[in-house]
Amino acid sequence: MKKILADRTSLIDASGIRKIWAKAASLKDPIDFSIGQPDFDVPAALKDEAIKAIQAGQNHYTLTAGDDELRAKIAAEVESVYGWEKLATLVISGVSGGLLLTFLSVINPGDEVIIPDPYFVMYKHLVNMIGGKCVFVDSYPDFKLPVEGIADAITEKTKLIIVNSPCNPTGAVYSEAELQALAKVASEKSIIVLSDEIYDKFCYDGNYPSMAKYYDRTLLLKGFSKNYGMTGWRLGYAACREEIKEVIEEMTKIQQYTFVCAPTPFQKAAIAAMDYDMSEQIAAYRHKRDLIYEGLKDKFELARPGGAFYAFVKAPVDSATEFVNRAISNNVLVIPGNVFSEKDTYFRISYATSDDKIRKGIEVLNGLV
Ligand code: PMP
Repeated sequence: MKKILADRTSLIDASGIRKIWAKAASLKDPIDFSIGQPDFDVPAALKDEAIKAIQAGQNHYTLTAGDDELRAKIAAEVESVYGWEKLATLVISGVSGGLLLTFLSVINPGDEVIIPDPYFVMYKHLVNMIGGKCVFVDSYPDFKLPVEGIADAITEKTKLIIVNSPCNPTGAVYSEAELQALAKVASEKSIIVLSDEIYDKFCYDGNYPSMAKYYDRTLLLKGFSKNYGMTGWRLGYAACREEIKEVIEEMTKIQQYTFVCAPTPFQKAAIAAMDYDMSEQIAAYRHKRDLIYEGLKDKFELARPGGAFYAFVKAPVDSATEFVNRAISNNVLVIPGNVFSEKDTYFRISYATSDDKIRKGIEVLNGLV
């Protein structure tokens, strides 16, 4: 019989997270530390903007590159924050959409993509699906940007280096010095750095350092999902300087035949979102970060997360999966490190939940050591 599925489907493995969900299905009111989205809702004023747009008939396609007013706003912000002058922008259907468009635009079969390990799981599977080769560079145990390892990993086939700060799953925020060092390494071979900044507002100890400020061949991917609690609105943007503008031109072309455009009414609301102050929500998350770090640091080995809403914690036994199974048996859902890494020695906690659940979860986890 003819195979009904394409070979590339075997290159994607979603089993890690699926196994956790399958185990979770039988739990009653678990302490859920597995979620990858904030527990706050979209601010009412921004919901009103989306509703207003729908009522006003803003329900058709926008231009492929996005709504003109939103793109002008994005360009103005990128210019003022990073000092870029001539730049290209594209409104995308979430950073996920932007990642797929980027990889389709720059990766040929056999091309190499350097990714610090641990990493956001989507990178690996999308690069594999397209026929690229992931080259992982270990960043354990402090999860700083492994610049030397990246320099050693560069070959003639390196097409892209991925930087994700604040990082999912480690919560690491890379310093200016680390990013500048990477810029130096990447510039020697003119390699593009994809900077996934979806958690940029969740940065708890000072200003957010961005690769975009230090390297002219940065492809910036920014998202609205996490910053405003609008993961279901599917919005983000890509931006780059003139030096690599053909990447965004190609991404736009591919968007025309895939996503077509990002959702129109939400693009309208995003214009208002860019001026909306989320500092109250972020302060609440800083407090959650403090709760989780202070609560676990005496019993577990963990680097203090500087951003996002994750902590990546060393399992007290050799196999993180084994420890995670024990945690789940005790009604606490966490994800084993091998979902985000070539190793299975740590586990990820998402603390995007109530302070009360965080306290209870800490108590259970400490009781398992
Ligand atoms: N990048 C990272 C690092 C993420 O954690 C996520 C969401 N979990 C995404 C990109 C994709 O987000 P979205 O498509 O909602 O913008």
